[in-house]
Amino acid sequence: KLHDRLPNIEHNLQMWVEQCKQQCHGGKVASYIPELAKGNKQALGIVMMDAYGEQCSAGDIQTVFTLQSISKVFSLLLALMDNGEEIVFHKVGMEPTGDSFNSMLKLELVQPGIPFNPLINAGAIAVSSLIQGSSQKHKLERVLQFFRKCAHNDSLQFNEQVYQSELHSADLNRSMAYFLKDNGVLEHSVDDVLDIYFRHCSIDVSVKDLARMGLLLAYNGTDPITGEQLIPKRYVQIAKSFMVTCGMYNASGQFAIQVGLPAKSGVSGGILTLIPGAIGIGVVGPALNSKGNSIAGVELLEKLSNAYDLSMF
Ligand code: GLN
Repeated sequence: KLHDRLPNIEHNLQMWVEQCKQQCHGGKVASYIPELAKGNKQALGIVMMDAYGEQCSAGDIQTVFTLQSISKVFSLLLALMDNGEEIVFHKVGMEPTGDSFNSMLKLELVQPGIPFNPLINAGAIAVSSLIQGSSQKHKLERVLQFFRKCAHNDSLQFNEQVYQSELHSADLNRSMAYFLKDNGVLEHSVDDVLDIYFRHCSIDVSVKDLARMGLLLAYNGTDPITGEQLIPKRYVQIAKSFMVTCGMYNASGQFAIQVGLPAKSGVSGGILTLIPGAIGIGVVGPALNSKGNSIAGVELLEKLSNAYDLSMF
């Protein structure tokens, strides 16, 4: 159990959250999606959850935020379940870029123009085009349903304001989608594919939802609390590998050294991470560092990992 494995955890989390909050003023809330600029720069919160549903938490755990790039892990899982590996990896590669998440730089490098990996924007847009459904509406329903199952929370919703805000400020993502369409990577309408991508990025969650989703990955796709197998193990292994190599954008190498856990961040300040076979972790801190990761959130995870020797490596 969480409290046996990590002695004094409640007290330590409280202390570290207070310390790490000092970092917030050195970061910036994302503003290229105007609605995200409303995020609370001072907030920092963490929830950890084990297989018995036991939790410990500290800080601003009531904060609601959108998944943003964290959703890319789960859209990949759904696309893998819908299509299998061969089809998915025909559309997207397996290598980190070392570039920022919205870079177009390497899009021309791999022939026939497929994005390097599913966690950069171009790759996630390609993956969104693989989600199955009899109509656009059906695809969106399947997406929401899947996220609800993974978070074990039927009240998850798309955030309409954030969705609209991104839809109207997405020239860069749109241009990448057109590039992919021209290369034959996207086979459907660019607008429909982007609609699915922006929608899954706009799902509202709390750190508790992230912790539960992380727990599912920690247990290789079988929810340890309900015993239900939601995702095949092989696909979760693929997703966690990408989280290690590409999950923290072009700071993934540094994060692997300093924290050493599979993780995925989003520009709204969320980080989903996990201790394999043990604990799901959700963090939020909307003030971001220069790479787009929660500045206080990364520091908090570093303290946690070092104190309890949690690195996988
Ligand atoms: N929806 C965001 C975008 O496409 C997701 C990016 C992120 O969280 N890094 O720009």
